[in-house]
Amino acid sequence: MKYEIDEFGYYGEFGGAYIPELLYNNLYQLKAAYKEIITDEPFIGMLNELLNDYVGRPSPLYHAKRLSEYYRTNIYLKREDLNHTGAHKINNTIGQILLAQRMQKTRIIAETGAGQHGVATATVCALMGLECIVYMGAKDIERQHPNVERMQLLGARVVAVHSGSQTLKDATNEAIRDWISHPDDTHYIIGSVVGPDPYPEMVAHFQSIIGKEIAEQLKEKTGNEKPTAIIACVGGGSNAIGAFHHFLPYEEVALYGVEGGGDGIYSGRTAATLVQGKPGIIHGSKTYLMQDADGQIEEPYSISAGLDYPGIGPLHAHLFKENRVQYMHATDTEALRAAYQLMKLEGIIPALESAHAFAALEKIKFTLTDKVVVNLSGRGDKDLTTYINHKQQ
Ligand SMILES: *Cc1c(COP(=O)(O)O)cnc(C)c1O
Repeated sequence: MKYEIDEFGYYGEFGGAYIPELLYNNLYQLKAAYKEIITDEPFIGMLNELLNDYVGRPSPLYHAKRLSEYYRTNIYLKREDLNHTGAHKINNTIGQILLAQRMQKTRIIAETGAGQHGVATATVCALMGLECIVYMGAKDIERQHPNVERMQLLGARVVAVHSGSQTLKDATNEAIRDWISHPDDTHYIIGSVVGPDPYPEMVAHFQSIIGKEIAEQLKEKTGNEKPTAIIACVGGGSNAIGAFHHFLPYEEVALYGVEGGGDGIYSGRTAATLVQGKPGIIHGSKTYLMQDADGQIEEPYSISAGLDYPGIGPLHAHLFKENRVQYMHATDTEALRAAYQLMKLEGIIPALESAHAFAALEKIKFTLTDKVVVNLSGRGDKDLTTYINHKQQ
């Protein structure tokens, strides 16, 4: 299948493992263990039990009637916001913590920007009684204080990174450095479909349950498992790949990925990687990233901290090149407008990230008989201050 990863860890020309030699062995072992567990019945049994009883899966597929009426089509929301910890990220951390246990690792490291992946990691470490260290840029620690406190309550140690721009990419470098110095007892949990092979494929696998459930639930509700379209927001790209994965071979299902447009894609303050970026190497893989004329990584900007990532997963870069997924962007203002609309019409406060997916409904023409699935990747509790402040303006 033309969207599958090849034996060298590439999707078309994107992906691979551009890492220090000292990590070759770690990634080799990880890939071997991952390949073993995906067909291992006891592992699959443990994973499914936790997904059901701890995360609360399957998440509902909800027919949003008032939103559908407004856009004169049929809109279904995949409710990842109802998962334990409030977003899709836990699907991946649950899978990786079981894998780490299987590999007899006792120490877990992660990096986080907005803190959401840090919280999801700290949660599963507490669940399994494993040591947890989360690297976070000093600037992000200041901006995302409630999540820092959540991680600490859950027993994680949050390490401030003061180098560079003191944000996510610096925290990533620090996590990689840690892994190099603790190769034997440590597993590094990456939070999106990014990083060196096998991470993009592994995270896609753990998130692909979203799309499998969409197919089953839509079949039950409408008699046909295939929607007309699926829309998801894209930061690193894990909730989008999770929702799309099952449907990639069915070219009749239109797929839309929505990036954080920030103040607008020509404003210099944006996170629209595929529109504004160029191919290069980031976080150990070849993909699109935001860079200046000298190839230096540019600091992205979006009102939503989870979309504020300078790269994008290599599979997305490939799907973009192959035209299988249409990538678009929504500005801060458009995302806020879509969020207020969802609150008012459906009584749901979405995460700011997810609001970007809803903003696409204004931009795409659908008919009365179309079936459109929007992946509601997370809930908006963490974004209340932003929603309240912007409402007053
Ligand atoms: C982290 C996050 C995202 C962005 O990450 P992806 O890997 O692109 O899915 C989107 N929505 C929510 C709610 C998040 O927490």
